[in-house]
Amino acid sequence: MATTTPTTRRRTPAPPAVGADAHFDADVAVVGGGPVGTLLAVLLGRRGHRVTIVEKWPAFYEQPRAITFDHEIARILAILGIDSDNDPAIDYHNDIYYWKNAEGRTLLEVDWASTAASGWHTRYWFSQPALEKRLRGLAAELPGVSTRCGWQATGLQQDDDGVVLTGTVTSADGTVSTETLRAKYVVGADGANSFVRQALDLGFEDHGFFFDWLILDIIPNEPMPSEPTHWQLCDPARPTTIVPGGPSRRRWEFMVLPGENPAELASTESAWNLLEPWGATPENSVLERSAVYRFQARWASAWRNGRGLIAGDAAHLMPPFAGEGMCAGLRDSLALAWRLDLVLSGKAGEALLDSYGTERAGHVQHYINFSMDLGKIICITDPEEAAERDRRMITELEASDGTPVDTDIATLGPGLWIEGTAHAGELSVQGVVEANGRTGRFDDVVGRGWTIIGRGANPAALLTGEQRRLLDCLGGRCAGIGPADDHSDVVDVDGTYGTWFDALGAEFAILRPDFYVAATASTPEELRAHLNTILAGLRLPAPAPTAAK
Ligand SMILES: Cc1cc2nc3c(=O)[nH]c(=O)nc-3n(C[C@H](O)[C@H](O)[C@H](O)COP(=O)(O)OP(=O)(O)OC[C@H]3O[C@@H](n4cnc5c(N)ncnc54)[C@H](O)[C@@H]3O)c2cc1C
Repeated sequence: MATTTPTTRRRTPAPPAVGADAHFDADVAVVGGGPVGTLLAVLLGRRGHRVTIVEKWPAFYEQPRAITFDHEIARILAILGIDSDNDPAIDYHNDIYYWKNAEGRTLLEVDWASTAASGWHTRYWFSQPALEKRLRGLAAELPGVSTRCGWQATGLQQDDDGVVLTGTVTSADGTVSTETLRAKYVVGADGANSFVRQALDLGFEDHGFFFDWLILDIIPNEPMPSEPTHWQLCDPARPTTIVPGGPSRRRWEFMVLPGENPAELASTESAWNLLEPWGATPENSVLERSAVYRFQARWASAWRNGRGLIAGDAAHLMPPFAGEGMCAGLRDSLALAWRLDLVLSGKAGEALLDSYGTERAGHVQHYINFSMDLGKIICITDPEEAAERDRRMITELEASDGTPVDTDIATLGPGLWIEGTAHAGELSVQGVVEANGRTGRFDDVVGRGWTIIGRGANPAALLTGEQRRLLDCLGGRCAGIGPADDHSDVVDVDGTYGTWFDALGAEFAILRPDFYVAATASTPEELRAHLNTILAGLRLPAPAPTAAK
């Protein structure tokens, strides 16, 4: 029996053997009711799977943390019907993200003003508790999803059939008891100090980045416009971040300087002293939160052990300079949801779960390194080093063509995509299309999930009968995209796909349920060969034998 070792030393009753009883309380037990665990539960619940979320806090955790997400997350939230462009709880600002030195000279301009290739604005602003509540509400609507609050996972055992989770349960009247929960799989979305990660014996590599920052969230009594909207003050005397905090909120982040006492800096009096030069005072604002966080850079060396997996902060931590920590976790949720859906419904072999960790690890390491690189520039407190940095960055900015830089593109680690085909392993573009009398974003009009697109004619006719059967089994589709006069079934209204195919030098693309490109191809033969490789990687079942006459 492959057993994982609980880290707790408490005495708990011996859990029942997993395989002894065919009964499962849930298909998937998710440990942690944060954004990552809850999104995963909603995605699986919508596919008809039974999910139990266990969350150690009896009451909802109201404190703001993440405040910004990127275009890819807007695309993911749209699966749930959340429209980040028009949602009252989500903001966007058509403005550049500036980095300035202590004298106010611009060091860097980051393009947060334009629409990203995935069809959504580059950056959105929100309050994490508001989003979490929204996700919990969506989970509560699903008959197969239940959330157990006050349930702290303390033990985990697994065998070939499933897992048994043991928990310390605190009821509303304060009574403490021990319960067990049986599920086919367990996912640890239980944050930085993940119990599940430790119980599964998955290492957590430390990349040695430690800086303490004071985070101040305020709710102004009146609108408090900032010019620029979001910017970084690279002042060695006090590196500072000034950003929106979602609708009706602002955030300041102040670096804790060497020798300062973090607790003293976070006191209410000190917080208002720091905010006063910025025009925020107790008279015009409410201080919602003052807390010092230690920014770290860590990732798990493996993301799966048997029937146990990890996601979100349990699998990776990064300093928030790129605003990508939760984003990475929500990508994990989607990457895991479509795989678990296929495995649980018997459409794919369990080995498919291995590519979850290899792909996500490679992708998240890119963002962790990127965030650390930003931090190394921002967290300079030595005046001479800062002056040298400023000279270098100003020279680079003056030598540039004036176009604000775009944050670079991350590629999946090795997994279910074909290396060497253009754009494979990267997020697919999304344009405005028209089909069946509807005009809008591709995902809404054509659909989400496995999709094979071709320039012009629908590529379905180019596939073998077996490939069409397997695509059907996946709930996938084919679509031909072209200009209005091309008689394609999908009209490329804003020309996104024509431009994309030109840039790729390809005629076909195989898109996955997480919007990543599995492969591109320039001939029908290539398309069929690449599709066979992808389908083999999924290990879809063979057709049922036809009864002998
Ligand atoms: C100051 C700050 C600013 C940030 N800004 C951004 C940003 O702008 N953009 C961005 O993308 N990210 C940002 N992040 C990161 C983001 O907040 C996290 O990545 C995100 O909260 C991770 O979500 P999660 O669901 O993985 O984990 P968490 O939010 O930590 O949730 C884990 C849950 O598991 C529960 N739990 C833990 N152990 C157990 C157990 N044994 N049993 C049951 N339940 C358990 C916890 O109570 C918790 O509710 C920021 C973080 C900080 C600290």
